[in-house]
Amino acid sequence: MKYYSLNKKAPNTTFEEAVVRGLAPDKGLYFPESITPLEASFFENIEDKSNAEIALEAIRQFIVPEIPEDILKTIVEGTLSFDFPVVEINKNISTLELFHGPTMAFKDVGARFMARCLGYFNKTNTNDITVLVATSGDTGGAVANGFLGVKGVNVVILYPSGKVSDIQEKQLTTLGQNITALEVDGVFDDCQDMVKQAFMDKELTSKMQLTSANSINIARWLPQLFYFIFTYKQLKSKYKDIAFSVPSGNFGNICAGMVAQKLGLPVKHFIASNNANATVVNYMLSQTYSPKPSIQTISNAMDVGNPSNFIRIQELHNNDFETLKSNLSSFSYTDNETREALLELYSDFNYVADPHGAVGYLGAKDYLKNNEAHVVFLETAHPTKFLDVVEDVIKENIDLPPQIEAVMDKEKVATKIGTYEELKGFLLK
Ligand SMILES: *Cc1c(COP(=O)(O)O)cnc(C)c1O
Repeated sequence: MKYYSLNKKAPNTTFEEAVVRGLAPDKGLYFPESITPLEASFFENIEDKSNAEIALEAIRQFIVPEIPEDILKTIVEGTLSFDFPVVEINKNISTLELFHGPTMAFKDVGARFMARCLGYFNKTNTNDITVLVATSGDTGGAVANGFLGVKGVNVVILYPSGKVSDIQEKQLTTLGQNITALEVDGVFDDCQDMVKQAFMDKELTSKMQLTSANSINIARWLPQLFYFIFTYKQLKSKYKDIAFSVPSGNFGNICAGMVAQKLGLPVKHFIASNNANATVVNYMLSQTYSPKPSIQTISNAMDVGNPSNFIRIQELHNNDFETLKSNLSSFSYTDNETREALLELYSDFNYVADPHGAVGYLGAKDYLKNNEAHVVFLETAHPTKFLDVVEDVIKENIDLPPQIEAVMDKEKVATKIGTYEELKGFLLK
């Protein structure tokens, strides 16, 4: 499979090069040259297959033979060593819990898959690859954990000092080995700017192979299509029309669901559920795309004013607004509405959600006002990762899961930096 740049000013390339580069030389996102639907029998007999078998069949065309099938099988099995349960909320709404991985965020799937692919490609290289990431919270932990111990790959994570939760900081700073945490005196945008500057620094990039690990990278983006198919496997005997409500920030997750749909997965509709960062909601109303600076909210992993994957969503719908509109609805919610949804889920259905899942629940309810379907909202993080907000709303303490408890006792190790020159000095040393 070849990949092309959505800016159309760079040569087509291989899976390997697209993964190692992250972004095309013309700064465009990579996109697969074709998406061939799976055989109808794949969906007819899905109950008989394990998650790893489903995932392998679904992603094979994008990756084999550049990664041989038997190795891809090992990568998929290693990535998916936890559960993806669908929990029924009521007769019209269920939730897909994506927080059973090691850092309790859905990003575990993409990060673990990408780490294994890079590890495979870099096995025979003598030069290490450096993965450079800026994080406002969840990405850093999932990437750090996913890449831990992968030979030939060093991970450097920049996070804003005092701006991530205690749990998130522990997940970033206690692993050691090939993972280094840099505590930046600044906010998330400063971390992001430093990372961008590093990628554009010719002196630096001539001396080391740098890559990114956000959902721009196809190896982190594509495997997110797996769990939409796992949901179908669990619900197909019960519900005919299934729609997905996806709490969205950079729109990588929902876009991967749309790739699953292109593969033949029966999905009635997608709902992009947003917090106050409503760039896509406004686009769907006005057909004018105007990115905005991000607004801080209690569902902070979705505080994105210019979603990088939206361009991939448009490509999947042939850049045709009417086609997109028939497949995607989009809603935006305030923090107060999100808190009310958390409380409603808890008091009416005895379900403890996190703020991102609560936004997804609100999207599901709004869609159901005018449509019939069974709507599955994605629970993208475990509620303990947003402990302050959740406990304050439901007025109960929630127990720390073992994955989280294990890191809380470990000692933080981070190097403080304040300027780009300090980052560069650190990388070159
Ligand atoms: C990253 C993240 C999101 C947003 O996912 P996108 O793929 O960027 O749209 C939603 N919820 C949580 C908890 C996240 O960490």
